[in-house]
Amino acid sequence: MYFFKTFTFINMSAVESKTKYIFVTGGVTSSLGKGIISASLAKLLQARGYSATIQKLDPYINIDPGTLNPYEHGECYVTEDGAETDLDLGHYERFLNVPTSQANNVTTGRIYQSVINKERQGDYLGETVQVIPHITDEIKHCIKLLGEDNRFDFVITEIGGTVGDIESLPYVEAIRQLKWELGNRCVVIHLTLIPYLAAAKELKTKPTQHSVKTMQEYGVQPDILVCRTEKHLNEGIRTKIALFCNVSTAAVIESIDTDSIYRVPLLMREEKLDLQVLKKTKMSANCSAELSSWEVFLNRLQNPVHTVKIALVGKYVELMDAYKSIIESLIHAGTSNECKVDLKMVHSEHITNTNIQTLLGDVSGILVAPGFGERGIEGKISAIQYARVNKIPFFGICLGMQCATIEFARNVLGMDNAHSTEVLPKTPHPVIDIMEEQKKVSKKGGTMRLGAYECKIESNSKVSAIYNKDFISERHRHRFEFNNNYLEIFEKNGMHAVGFNPDSNLVEIIELQNHPWFVGVQFHPEYKSTVASPHPLFVDFVKSAMEYSQKEIND
Ligand code: GLN
Repeated sequence: MYFFKTFTFINMSAVESKTKYIFVTGGVTSSLGKGIISASLAKLLQARGYSATIQKLDPYINIDPGTLNPYEHGECYVTEDGAETDLDLGHYERFLNVPTSQANNVTTGRIYQSVINKERQGDYLGETVQVIPHITDEIKHCIKLLGEDNRFDFVITEIGGTVGDIESLPYVEAIRQLKWELGNRCVVIHLTLIPYLAAAKELKTKPTQHSVKTMQEYGVQPDILVCRTEKHLNEGIRTKIALFCNVSTAAVIESIDTDSIYRVPLLMREEKLDLQVLKKTKMSANCSAELSSWEVFLNRLQNPVHTVKIALVGKYVELMDAYKSIIESLIHAGTSNECKVDLKMVHSEHITNTNIQTLLGDVSGILVAPGFGERGIEGKISAIQYARVNKIPFFGICLGMQCATIEFARNVLGMDNAHSTEVLPKTPHPVIDIMEEQKKVSKKGGTMRLGAYECKIESNSKVSAIYNKDFISERHRHRFEFNNNYLEIFEKNGMHAVGFNPDSNLVEIIELQNHPWFVGVQFHPEYKSTVASPHPLFVDFVKSAMEYSQKEIND
């Protein structure tokens, strides 16, 4: 009997979750960088040998950001398992080098959908279904899901929006309940703004005091305050914030404006954010956060030996968030080549035959961005023709690859009006056409070809040397594809399909013969580039742009 009890005890303790839950909320204004603070904290914990994952809870009603216009929400980031998610998940992966999944991004829409589905199935056994407890229970379930089976030591949950918004209330209430249930397994980090009033030459703490008061009204006392500021916080300000906001002075963390998001983990280490979290969760802080390879990266980023100008051609150029992952991938690739990529954003709608030389004449590489619909597509095609004819390194991603196919059909194969059926359904030469399985799809949300698919690479191609692999896996987000009826004529004339899906035979990569670097990919390599592992295609593209610029100088 005694042995049995002991055994039961050990067994139970083995399955009991020990995961710590860190919540990151925001006050005063949006855009304070909650995503970067969350990613930096996770990086520091990872650098101390702990496992950490980050989750974003978004208080809007859309089921996911897949149907949102980039003007609304920036880039839609795609995970390995095909979830269309918030762009902050891109930062999480780029910092941690660990893939995320659907469970890492949940919206109010998804929470309600799940509760309503349960209600329709009769799961609530006649109860009145309410925000509390049913919606808050569902939120708590989504948070705890990542902590199941002790997969992670830390689950960091970032709450989108700003505290005080009506729509984020159920999330703050869920945090209050979890803090109550889990005690010191929960820590709340509140990110606020300390504005500097130039006229008074003073940093002001009042907005932070009010924001913390709002949290307290909801029953949540933040444990740590991360204060975004343009000037350093002196001891006096820290003590004042601590006193008014009920936290210790050591828990007032300065988050000063900085030149690169990649410096933030180091700044947070200096401010001891990770130590505060470990102290409050009663976790060992014996070793220190070992970030030497991160520091090497940052050093190379800030002290480039070369510079190269690369054009990013797209229709959302005024909105840097729309191409977040591509821009970050170019930064990673530049850094690994000890080169600063001087990015020239070129609006595809503005490109004409008369101004193309002015717009693209000074660049050493042209990247044509992904996209949907007709707007700006002719400008993208013209930019590709310019890159092809002038032998400027060209990288086409998704729609960029499709435009390269159209350009080749029109200007090399003489197929007038060749197009994608997405833009010209009745084109006489549908070189890009809707995928067979997409023809019957009518719903918009989550119905594209999404997530990771395998691709077999032809040996003796340029990309085979770049990847140095026969099989790769890359993430997708599209409905249209290269029309294989045209494969033969393309191949005969020098545009080669060098990557295929082994199951469906869909063309995944095209390459041009007799060109220094002309690669189009149907997938999105930018979703897989991280600080620790810059994407090989981006690295090689930047390298070839550097070679091109060197050649220009020598000629
Ligand atoms: N609109 C194109 C398609 O759906 C390309 C999509 C993209 O660039 N992500 O196939």
